Amino acid sequence: MQSETMLNHPRTGQPFASPVPPGTGWPGDPATPATARAADAAEVRRLAGTAQSIDELDARISVCRACPRLVTWREQVALVKRKSFADQPYWGRPVPGWGSTEPKIVIVGLAPAANGANRTGRTFTGDRSGDQLYAALHRAGLVNQPTSVDAADGLRANGIRIIAPVRCAPPDNAPTTAERNTCAPWLDTEWRLIAPHVRVMVALGGFAWQIALRIAADPMLKPKPKFSHGAVADLGPTLRLVGCYHPSQQNMFTGRLTPAMLDDIFTNAATLAGIRN
Ligand code: SF4
Repeated sequence: MQSETMLNHPRTGQPFASPVPPGTGWPGDPATPATARAADAAEVRRLAGTAQSIDELDARISVCRACPRLVTWREQVALVKRKSFADQPYWGRPVPGWGSTEPKIVIVGLAPAANGANRTGRTFTGDRSGDQLYAALHRAGLVNQPTSVDAADGLRANGIRIIAPVRCAPPDNAPTTAERNTCAPWLDTEWRLIAPHVRVMVALGGFAWQIALRIAADPMLKPKPKFSHGAVADLGPTLRLVGCYHPSQQNMFTGRLTPAMLDDIFTNAATLAGIRN
């Protein structure tokens, strides 16, 4: 499913179809037309298992088509578009992790937003949650600028990487268990490649906390540490897990999570990781 209409990228001005074909010049596109493409769960396992670097992994993730329902949804959203973004091309593909390939801090999110990362091609970019998250990361010295608008805006990470257990925008923000399982090998490989560098994981919400425990904790760890905002759990001699409410529009709007609370979390994470004193 692809539009015939070419629309200009809001920053670079280059015209793109929606969804964006691999290797056509979208800022930060890790893939080429020749990148190996997973069409089912077995191919995700094989292509994730043989990826030798984060760059190779990101490229393979960004062209994955293993979950029919999610492929249809992400491409439909890219074609129909939200009214306020009707003049923009939409990425409409899976969203790889973003940030350092040797991070000291890893932030675990959920799935891309339909009109945020699914539009811009970069995680947490172009929606309200991302506005809150990147502003807090900037105040903590973990990114170079307070805003994250599109994939060509000059944002750079300082020792952090943002990862997610599902890479395609799901209908109603709710991937199925089967879709989560299909996508899991991408995250497992990403963790294998970055884990030697990571000192702190920040889980955005209880589900992300469970994901962090699954990929990083000793399976024999008993009792399993429980999620709460501000909780810190030791996952090993050099790895800590920090809990943080998800900076969703609802959590921020209701005051369950405030900018000051986010600052406490990321300042603490930066200190624990040795990025700041
Ligand atoms: S959710 Fe994951 S496994 Fe499913 S199509 Fe997207 S990238 Fe592929």
